[in-house]
Amino acid sequence: MGRQINVALLGNPNTGKTSVFNRLTGLNQKVGNYPGITVEKKEGVCTLERGLKAHILDLPGTYSLNASSLDENVVIELLLNKNDKDFPDVAIVVADVENLKRNLLLFTQIKDLGIPTILAINMADRMKRKAISLDIEQLEEKLETKIALISSRKNEGFETLKQYITQYASLSVKPCVNASSIAPEYFNRLEKAFPDQDLYKLWLVITQDVNFGVLERGALKGIATFQTESTSNLKRLQQKETIARYQFINEVLKETLAIDTENAKDFRSRMDRILTHRIWGYIIFFGILLLIFQAIFDWSSYPMDFIDSTFAAFSEWTKAIMPPGDFTNLIAEGIIPGLGGIVIFIPQIAFLFLFISILEETGYMSRVVFLMDRSMRRFGLSGKSVVPLVSGTACAIPAIMATRNIESWKERLITILVTPFTTCSARLPVYLIIIALVIPEQRVLGIFSLQGLTLMFLYLLGFGAAIFSAWLLDKVLKIRSKSFFVIEMPNYKVPILKNVMITVVEKTKSFVWGAGKIILAISIILWVLASYGPGDFNRAEEIIAQQTVGQQLSETELETKIASFKLENSYVGHMGKFIEPAVRPLGYDWKIGIAIVSSFAAREVFVGTLATIYSVGSEEEETIRNRMAAEVNPVLGTPIFNFASGISLLLFYAFAMQCMSTLAIVRRETNSWKWPLWQLFAMSAIAYIVALAAYQFLK
Ligand code: GDP
Repeated sequence: MGRQINVALLGNPNTGKTSVFNRLTGLNQKVGNYPGITVEKKEGVCTLERGLKAHILDLPGTYSLNASSLDENVVIELLLNKNDKDFPDVAIVVADVENLKRNLLLFTQIKDLGIPTILAINMADRMKRKAISLDIEQLEEKLETKIALISSRKNEGFETLKQYITQYASLSVKPCVNASSIAPEYFNRLEKAFPDQDLYKLWLVITQDVNFGVLERGALKGIATFQTESTSNLKRLQQKETIARYQFINEVLKETLAIDTENAKDFRSRMDRILTHRIWGYIIFFGILLLIFQAIFDWSSYPMDFIDSTFAAFSEWTKAIMPPGDFTNLIAEGIIPGLGGIVIFIPQIAFLFLFISILEETGYMSRVVFLMDRSMRRFGLSGKSVVPLVSGTACAIPAIMATRNIESWKERLITILVTPFTTCSARLPVYLIIIALVIPEQRVLGIFSLQGLTLMFLYLLGFGAAIFSAWLLDKVLKIRSKSFFVIEMPNYKVPILKNVMITVVEKTKSFVWGAGKIILAISIILWVLASYGPGDFNRAEEIIAQQTVGQQLSETELETKIASFKLENSYVGHMGKFIEPAVRPLGYDWKIGIAIVSSFAAREVFVGTLATIYSVGSEEEETIRNRMAAEVNPVLGTPIFNFASGISLLLFYAFAMQCMSTLAIVRRETNSWKWPLWQLFAMSAIAYIVALAAYQFLK
């Protein structure tokens, strides 16, 4: 094995850090989480020369080392902890050539920690159009480091960058800003108390609210006395530090950077005015959304149908070639459909992220966030919650994955918790069949179909529930999380295909590995519960044969009767009957109970389960509907699916958390079982109460 250099990649958000990371590592990257928290950890390997590799850690984007979010804590904790296995030999700060001044703040802070720091000035391709010129040599002299002028879009400057990484040991580690110049008296005292420590590092330990459990505590004994300096005093010193840094930066840039504003073509401000306009902004945004959803529904239905039929065929084939028995059934009816249930989501996830990442890459998304932020904030959400909430109408899984770019943990958590309320496509078949049963085919005002209005109402109800619970959670959740909104509007750009594709591949992979395992496990468990049972279950053929003596039944009729009998007597069937007393006040019988139990895995199973129970052989909607309409309550003699129980059922499905895939993804995204279980419990409780109230009121 060759030698390896530890490299930390740092930079402000939107400087192209991810693109630089992608350029350096290609697909040689790994995404995980930092232990115990939900911040994403991306690392990769880049070959520098023969026998020499760089291990590159892509740290979360941050504006400075003054921590105000979880992401920034990660950065500081790493940089202050020499014992961390990821502690960098060399840091690369990625800066955007158009925002050098702001970007250099972070650079000077990191360099002052005594870490060799290379400056990578990105987006060099835009310099010409923006009429920017830079004197790199002089800048290198003033900042006392190596500077690589790069463009990740054009793949330029990366050889130089790699060369600088290789030679990192020769970089100067002299601080840019002398800490004691900020407050001489204070820092002199500090220096006396800790003669062997780096002053700036001490300063960060004192001022930052970070978990220093991992730091060399022994060496910092007595630091608490410096911490007790009144907070306002520390704040003041922090401000002085920032001012001192900007003074230094201004001084440096004055002589090295020139922008000829006259010659810059300002397409950007004109676009911004339209896209964040109070009326046009919304119209354009909703137009784009409409387009995207149309595309997601239309386009992904082809691959989804294909996946569906392929897995069905595969399952048939397995049954045909393997010896009949429990093991074959497990594979053909448990595992293969379980896998199919994961793979079927891939098209929707991939398409949604294709669009989201294009919108992000072009710079449009930041305008939407800006546009929506104010109205969303009232409900404890962020402008960035719009995308997850709207995507939830296709499927909550990609939607919840799309919350990753919300910086504030509280806002992100709230978004994750409320997203499953939005009406996802799996609810649609359930809604359609029940609406057709219990809502009369009438017109309102002569034009609107009552059934259509009911459906629309259910969608609005979903959004309303999401927004309302967000507002409630914002009040209830005691999570300290600073939400400061930096209006970050990157320039408009043509998306980089490589970035888009990597996002799509990464998200899809993370769904398949993250949620897939749990989905598969639960589908196998449910299959077992539905395919085995005690007592009569095992004598199904015999009992049905006795019951149907003398009847002229065709083979399929007999088979569906047996299947229905088996389901009723399986473990799931017993569970359905067991919960009947609990669902009777909602207007349901044990058959609906079974359908509810089995659709805890996935809502769309509801219709199929009823089809089996009512022993309608084919799953054709028409037949099932007729059969459902004919169901009569044996005690009252009234139809089971009447207006009251129908509405109650609709409301139950609108609120209940019946999707194990969503639970699995929430578990993954929040890194704990606490939140998904909480969500499952709360949503089920709401569903139950609302359905109960509706039935009791309407019956
Ligand atoms: P991050 O937020 O810092 O990780 O930045 P990203 O890598 O996501 O890039 C932000 C935006 O800058 C994206 O729209 C990229 O397409 C764009 N971008 C990245 N590198 C370059 C570059 O070298 N030139 C130009 N013109 N745009 C770039």
